[in-house]
Amino acid sequence: MRLLRKQEEELKTRAYYDSITGLPNELWLREQLSSILTTRQEARVLIMLHVNEFHAIRRTFGNANADDLIRQLADRIRNTLQPTDTLARLQDSTFCVIRHRLEEKHLKSKQQNINEELTRAYFVGSQPVNLTFQLGIIDVSLPDSAENALYRGYLAMQEAIRKGSNQAVFFDDLLEEQIQRDRDLEDALPSALENNEFSLHYQPKVDANGQCCGAEALLRWHHGNQGLISPAIFIPLAERSGFMPKLGAWVINEACAFLGRLREQNNHLPGRLSVNVSPWQLREETLPSTLQSALQATAIPAPQIEIELTESALVDSLVTARKQLQAIRELGVSIAVDDFGTGYSSLAYLQDLPLDVLKIDKQFVDNLDSTRGQQLVEGIINIGTVLDMTVVAEGIEDRTQLSALCALGCQYFQGYLFSKPLPEEAFGEWLRKNLQTPLTTS
Ligand code: C2E
Ligand code: MG
Ligand code: MG
Repeated sequence: MRLLRKQEEELKTRAYYDSITGLPNELWLREQLSSILTTRQEARVLIMLHVNEFHAIRRTFGNANADDLIRQLADRIRNTLQPTDTLARLQDSTFCVIRHRLEEKHLKSKQQNINEELTRAYFVGSQPVNLTFQLGIIDVSLPDSAENALYRGYLAMQEAIRKGSNQAVFFDDLLEEQIQRDRDLEDALPSALENNEFSLHYQPKVDANGQCCGAEALLRWHHGNQGLISPAIFIPLAERSGFMPKLGAWVINEACAFLGRLREQNNHLPGRLSVNVSPWQLREETLPSTLQSALQATAIPAPQIEIELTESALVDSLVTARKQLQAIRELGVSIAVDDFGTGYSSLAYLQDLPLDVLKIDKQFVDNLDSTRGQQLVEGIINIGTVLDMTVVAEGIEDRTQLSALCALGCQYFQGYLFSKPLPEEAFGEWLRKNLQTPLTTS
């Protein structure tokens, strides 16, 4: 009998505790939550703590070292606990704390910082390793089911992961609504493409004489119920759901088809039409062939097309990027770095990759009224000149900004001052007029 009890104990331990840290596991936590969430008690929160990119750490250091890091982390978390806290380890890289008897003011302030104890370096042997975290926090003061509480905890954590390193997100009704809205939009993307709800608008680029020297294609979604939705909202959703390569291919095809229609109307676009390309398209190996078949289908010469990529797209996957960009360049398509200066701004990758154009981000143009701002823009223009790249300033809204840019040696411009992005027909008219009478830039 005693042996049976011992075996039963052992089985229980195995079922309810994590073998690496000795902490309670998810099964245990669910049972705890089920019993404590039946009544309204004092204010309490459930905190999900996620270690960023732990799978990469596992791959780099191997399982034994990664497990050791998890033990070090578990010890650190224990050190930060208050006496009434409950701690469990859920998955490989996720821990959960239930914090009881919270002061109402702390709950209301929705402020939770990641404890410094957790962000100090960890060690694999003598090698320091920095871990970054995301916290998803939910209020569990009211009666609820364990399933629901954990689900909301995961959603808050996902939102924190989306926001980036060392972020804490407090789950509330607003977040719930936001998540639901995003999910609805995400689900609607494929049918929106089939129903022709997407279109491209075109924003001209001009030279120092005010003459059109190209344009940028910008995607628009005319949603059945919600009207016009900004790409800043739906592009991240398309990226997250894996829909971006398909949507991006549509943009490339449509941009080439548009150039074909302009040609038919004998209304030629001087310079190049640029299309924005997401990092997710660059990761797919099909980008060069997508461009090639769009150009072939419309008989548009490759030098009339340019792709715009952000710095992060280039730096995140430098090896794949280089291969793809070389193939794209071989087609004859040009490559621009969008939003330059907002990301890594590393000269090493600029030198290393086949790039043609640097686009100075709007925030630099907005700061041209300060000496520091002018120096920064001057620096970017110098980098472009040294690397033999064309420099385009974007987001120009007034003449003072334009004069400052001209004085610094910038030669190509884009912004509301010249024209907002226009639907196809309006752009065609703008182009005709501009070819007859260029805008004045002085
Ligand atoms: P971006 O490529 O940097 O495009 C410039 C954005 O600034 C556009 O916003 C444009 O309308 C806006 N803009 C241009 N001039 C001015 C100005 O003078 N003042 C102000 N306030 N804004 C100006 P939009 O069209 O909302 O696009 C936002 C971002 O969405 C784009 O930034 C680009 O990153 C992304 N995007 C748009 N279309 C596509 C696409 O087809 N594919 C991908 N992957 N991303 C796209
Ligand atoms: Mg762009
Ligand atoms: Mg930009």
